[in-house]
Amino acid sequence: MKRICVYLGSNPGNHPAYIAAAETLGQELVARGLGLVYGGSSTGLMGRLADTCLAAGGDVIGIIPKRLVEKEIAHQGLTESHVVNSMHERKQLMADFSDAFIALPGGIGTLEEFFEVLTWNQLGYHSKPCGLLDVNGYYACLTDHMDRMVQEGFLVADHRRMVMTSPNPATLIDMFADYDPPHVDKWIEMKKGL
Ligand code: AMP
Repeated sequence: MKRICVYLGSNPGNHPAYIAAAETLGQELVARGLGLVYGGSSTGLMGRLADTCLAAGGDVIGIIPKRLVEKEIAHQGLTESHVVNSMHERKQLMADFSDAFIALPGGIGTLEEFFEVLTWNQLGYHSKPCGLLDVNGYYACLTDHMDRMVQEGFLVADHRRMVMTSPNPATLIDMFADYDPPHVDKWIEMKKGL
């Protein structure tokens, strides 16, 4: 593993634990010699994570659509910045550059990006590890809901396992090293012969 892509709030959240988690993750990435790939913003948790990695001497690649640069929130001090034309291009490049994906607490953008890489994973477009950093129990409802998807027959149990979860950045990255990607199709009907 060389680089990890992190999706996280462009807002800081209401609890200091979120900022603290972004900083701890940044330090952990640099301590392990892992580069950061992220959305290139200077705001919220995104900015705190990038600043922490840079201050600790790490490499940070930011990928930001032109439209957001023009709103003057692009981080100006990154190791490498890529300005792209669309969100689609951005998400593809972020995924191509990265060997694993982590979502910290965030809003709709964070969930959308994380679920897109999960979707690609369950369809077999890649088999890179994906994890939720569950700070303050923020993702408890979401992981419960994914269990419900399995119970209700919309998600294969082997694919549910794709989403590794821990409140601790070091533990989550260690889990990635042991990750055994699922080798099953997503279509439950075909398996049941319905
Ligand atoms: P949200 O969770 O809605 O704040 O969105 C954060 C996620 O969406 C990040 O992982 C980014 O890749 C992307 N994103 C949302 N807002 C911005 C922004 N202002 N600048 C750069 N990326 C953003």
